[in-house]
Amino acid sequence: MSISPSTAVVTGASSGIGAVYAQRLAARGYDLILVARRADRLNALSDKLSRAHGIKTRVLVADLAKESDLADVEAVLQRDANVRLLVNNAGVARLRPFVQSSVEDSVSQIALNITALTRLTHAVLPGFVARNEGAVINVASILAVQALPISAVYSATKAFVLQFSRGLQGELASTGVKVQAVMPAATETEIWTESTSGVPLSALAQGTVMSAEDMVDAALAGFDQGEAVTWPSVGDAGLWDTFDAARSALFGATQTGTPAARYTKA
Ligand code: NAP
Repeated sequence: MSISPSTAVVTGASSGIGAVYAQRLAARGYDLILVARRADRLNALSDKLSRAHGIKTRVLVADLAKESDLADVEAVLQRDANVRLLVNNAGVARLRPFVQSSVEDSVSQIALNITALTRLTHAVLPGFVARNEGAVINVASILAVQALPISAVYSATKAFVLQFSRGLQGELASTGVKVQAVMPAATETEIWTESTSGVPLSALAQGTVMSAEDMVDAALAGFDQGEAVTWPSVGDAGLWDTFDAARSALFGATQTGTPAARYTKA
């Protein structure tokens, strides 16, 4: 995928995967709009990247789970015709059994991982389509296709991100606008603490965790190769093709208009 460097928006740029996307996109010559709640982190990154790469940066301090902040960010993105790339990266995980979770645990994941991501995509896509240029990178998760006993809501939000991305890819296929879904496995970031996801990094199996730098570099390599869905840690790319072909065959098999024989009385 190639688009002219202009302005990229990175949500959740104050740490982890989002901060690395900001660094890599700055190195590619994009001006940046950096979004998250922690102003100190965003300002430090903004100063560093503008000095190092001679790019323009703008910090939007926003809680994307709050209506008024989200509306402010939407308004900026709708008005800025230089935006060519949106990295929908901000996300939270609250990993515990559903019955032990608060309603706030569930609602906060849905608000950020689904609602904010969808609304920010609404904010940029009409402009991208009108200009026939632009891209949305949606950071999903391998848990989009795997629901653990502690990840019912998180996995469901990431399944939304995957299916949302797939649907948009179909709609935009005849345009110059691209959508990539990124499917990270465990990545070494601040998401892995007791106070964020509830699971410390030390609880993950050794050898399964990738650095945020490696994850983003692989995801951007997939983006450059025009991949629709990128699995940074999966060596055998054919596994996704097999999975997607099985999904498509299952869908095809639903188009019968009759109950399956096993559900009808003999
Ligand atoms: P992280 O270091 O905790 O980063 C999360 C980012 O989201 C931070 O910049 C945080 O900034 C921002 N954020 C959280 N709540 C927000 C809110 N209400 N409004 C605005 N921004 C908010 O974790 P990460 O691992 O880099 O996560 C980035 C994305 O990768 C997420 O979508 C996550 O689901 C996905 N992912 C991560 C892994 C992994 O193993 N790390 C695996 C698969 C997918 P502030 O706190 O400053 O607001």
